[in-house]
Amino acid sequence: MECKKNENKKFCNCTYPCEKKGICCECIKYHRERNELPACFFDAETEKTYDRSFEAFIEMHKRKG
Ligand code: SF4
Repeated sequence: MECKKNENKKFCNCTYPCEKKGICCECIKYHRERNELPACFFDAETEKTYDRSFEAFIEMHKRKG
């Protein structure tokens, strides 16, 4: 199976300059090891804070109600 990096980059919402963009397996591994989630779990407002923590994810959903 070929890497779908270029295809994945089309829907990647991450605004952080990062070499893992589109390499979802590496992206998830990186953030999971830090108890975090990748950018695509966050809305635009939360994503731009670069806070990928579980807490930021929960707070985002609390704001949404
Ligand atoms: S979510 Fe994290 S690992 Fe993934 S592309 Fe953005 S900064 Fe890189």
